[in-house]
Amino acid sequence: MRLSRFFMPILKENPKEAEIVSHRLMLRTGMIKQNSSGIYTWLPLGKRVLDKVNAIIREEQNRSGAVELSMPTLQSAELWQESGRYDAYGKEMLRIRDRQDRPMLYGPTNEEMITDVFRSYVKSYKDLPLNLYHIQLKFRDEIRPRFGTMRSREFMMKDAYSFDLNREGAEHAYNRMFAAYLRTFSRMGLRAIPMRADTGPIGGNLSHEFIILAETGESEVFCHKDFLGFDIPTEDTNFDDVAGLKAIFDKWTSRYAATSEMHDEAAFAAVAEGDKLSARGIEVGHIFYFGTKYSEAMGAKVQGPDGKEHTVHMGSYGIGPTRLVPAIIEASHDENGIIWPDSVAPFNASVINMKAGDAACDAACETIYAALTKAGIDTLYDDTDDRAGTKFATADLIGVPVQVIAGPRSIAAGEVEIKDRKTGARETMSIEAAINKLTASK
Ligand code: ATP
Ligand code: MG
Repeated sequence: MRLSRFFMPILKENPKEAEIVSHRLMLRTGMIKQNSSGIYTWLPLGKRVLDKVNAIIREEQNRSGAVELSMPTLQSAELWQESGRYDAYGKEMLRIRDRQDRPMLYGPTNEEMITDVFRSYVKSYKDLPLNLYHIQLKFRDEIRPRFGTMRSREFMMKDAYSFDLNREGAEHAYNRMFAAYLRTFSRMGLRAIPMRADTGPIGGNLSHEFIILAETGESEVFCHKDFLGFDIPTEDTNFDDVAGLKAIFDKWTSRYAATSEMHDEAAFAAVAEGDKLSARGIEVGHIFYFGTKYSEAMGAKVQGPDGKEHTVHMGSYGIGPTRLVPAIIEASHDENGIIWPDSVAPFNASVINMKAGDAACDAACETIYAALTKAGIDTLYDDTDDRAGTKFATADLIGVPVQVIAGPRSIAAGEVEIKDRKTGARETMSIEAAINKLTASK
């Protein structure tokens, strides 16, 4: 992408309304624009990050055996009347009437709708286990939307729903998602700690929140330090291996970890003083096993191997991509701006032409830009006529992992400089060596 043709409205001043660093940086870099309270446009730079976050989520969902579909944002109230949640949900639900005066709602979650999809087609245990997910906008009329897309009213959620014949099957489905979540967050450079959680209006009795430790987090959390060192399930994890996944679950629940709602002072007191971690955290995912709560109310049954009808056991599993983007920034930034992990960076490299219009600089930058692009590296080419200092500041601010810097003096010597955004380390090398270095890891 040529910066001169891109749309990246960088703000010169720090926006005053932003209380936390991620919100400030997302506004400054032109990643998002607020349209009304808790409702945002994802501008091109932000959209690129959000897409990469969603791509990782999707890969890990698919790897674990979940199957993607897409459900609508608007739902008929009827389904929610069937489950009994239409009246129970309260003011967070945005209720709408269509021109026929039929009650509709903007979905805050999709348990009812997916149960309806399921009961329409699945009649036999032979079609189980089944886990269906989508990545879709949700609306919750939050009383206090704040911190940008961290807590917004319209937000994106990856929500998956599992269906099994019995509790054992459902526990395996739960463990699958549990392992998939550990991998998902780790691939974004985050260490998420599963903590026992309250099930709230979703219902049920087995639930974990995945929490990123961050000073600006809204939840107060208590856990054992060992979580910081536990191994993440590897890429070749076998998601059909019931015992193997149970072992991952057991390991990651073997130490104390709870949010303030579930905190047990006595149990935490038993943790050795030096191993205690009490901190603040951001909830980036939440998984639930709720048994037959919805299947019972909505008649989702299958014929079992015994020839009898069985009400299916269900779970639901949420991740918030539009909250993850600021969570990643909270975890990875410095005084100059964002430091993106390569896996979710809007661009993986930037080429900085210190003197656009200088024939030799232009030619060298074009060569590098073309070579990196051809190698499949998302590259931002700063071909604008801004001053070099402005270009450096912008590159640091938007946090692209590697900068290739070309100025008239270095180009005359056939060389460019490579700068690592995270460490600040700089290296001078020939144009060819620079291209080789950047494309080698691809
Ligand atoms: P919270 O406790 O933060 O209000 P929740 O428990 O109501 O969230 P869930 O129903 O568990 O949320 O939703 C699953 C995921 O969706 C959360 O883990 C979070 O990542 C994301 N999410 C929920 N509400 C919001 C919101 N208002 N803005 C952005 N993301 C959200
Ligand atoms: Mg939750």
